[in-house]
Amino acid sequence: MTIEQVQQLIRPNILALKPYSTARDEYKGNIGIYLDANENPFENGYNRYPSTTLKAQVRSTIAQKKDVNPARLFLGNGSDEAIDLLFRIFCRPGVDNVISIAPTYGMYSVCAAINDIEYREVMLGQEFSLPVDELLGAADAQSKLLFVCSPNNPTANAFPYEQLITLVKQFPGIVVVDEAYIDFSSEPSMVELIDEYPNLIVLQTLSKAYGLAGLRMGIAFAHECIISVFEQVKYPYNIGADTLALAQRLLDVDITSQVQTIIAERERVAAALRELPYVIKVYPSDANFLLVKTERSRELYEYLIARELIVRDRTHTPGCESTLRITIGMPEENDRLIAELRARD
Ligand code: PMP
Repeated sequence: MTIEQVQQLIRPNILALKPYSTARDEYKGNIGIYLDANENPFENGYNRYPSTTLKAQVRSTIAQKKDVNPARLFLGNGSDEAIDLLFRIFCRPGVDNVISIAPTYGMYSVCAAINDIEYREVMLGQEFSLPVDELLGAADAQSKLLFVCSPNNPTANAFPYEQLITLVKQFPGIVVVDEAYIDFSSEPSMVELIDEYPNLIVLQTLSKAYGLAGLRMGIAFAHECIISVFEQVKYPYNIGADTLALAQRLLDVDITSQVQTIIAERERVAAALRELPYVIKVYPSDANFLLVKTERSRELYEYLIARELIVRDRTHTPGCESTLRITIGMPEENDRLIAELRARD
């Protein structure tokens, strides 16, 4: 798809938008007497709106880490903000539709409902395989977005790179690949393809492998013709001052060994759960959680809750009935989980 075709997917009112701009965006200096934003001048560390310079620094730190041009990434208040912005940028309420795999991350359908957008779900195939032809077949002229979460939440598997590329090449709208769990995966990220395919948007987050869920920072990687629209539609100062300062500091921490430990623990816990007589299946995982099939999912969920072990009950989720989704914790937490489940016959 060409850049011009991508631009035609943007809602006309968004293309015509005269965005809100702040004097801080316009003033490029570092120091000055700030009488522009109706702040309280008495210093307490938080009396000023977040620094746009610091935001640019965080953006360039992430760009360096990910080997991407800073103009090709948007920082959101969690990747949930980027998901909502996608609807507001591309989808006309009551007119357009989006397509998604199912089961998958719940916020795509919630954001679709909030924005009054038809949500077309295509069930995953055998062993949670990607239904490439069905996804393409579900599209029509009003299909603006296709959501593919890879590795997928809650099924835990990553989809083959080649299949994702086929979707990007053939889908007539924007393909959003949500890579929240990519750092735990054996499949490569698609970020490096954003230059080649202007209709590809890759979402990542600092909430998972980077261990910064409390900060609320997510990233959308895309061609700058899309990123510039994200920047116009977002709220002014969408990322708080603390979040920016902490992100800048904590992004330096090397997460490699933590990720390796989580992956090793994932395989250890999976092996232990497979031994349990009532476990039907532990699905292969490319993420930091396991999806476990057992006919006793609801009962086990309540049993674990009573022991202050909280997992996610997916018993009634179409496509993954009778399952629990279990996040990999610290080794001793995983030991507790295994011990409690072993004690339950
Ligand atoms: N995408 C997926 C697939 C997720 O599982 C989650 C959170 N569970 C998110 C996005 C949202 O992440 P964030 O914390 O960046 O908003």
